[in-house]
Amino acid sequence: MSCVECRTALSAELDGEAADAVPEEVRRHLRDCAACGSWLAAAHRLQRLLRSARLAADRGE
Ligand SMILES: [Zn+2]
Repeated sequence: MSCVECRTALSAELDGEAADAVPEEVRRHLRDCAACGSWLAAAHRLQRLLRSARLAADRGE
């Protein structure tokens, strides 16, 4: 598995398209690849920010 394949699978999971369905090979790559690990942490942070921005917009803030 390459970093690109790993991150593509993880973006689907981040979007909720494949939650709970992260393939074992992706998990294995994450354990071994520090770069993808920090990419995922950053992606989760960004997603939380986007989600709270969207909630604020829904409230008209
Ligand atoms: Zn990687």
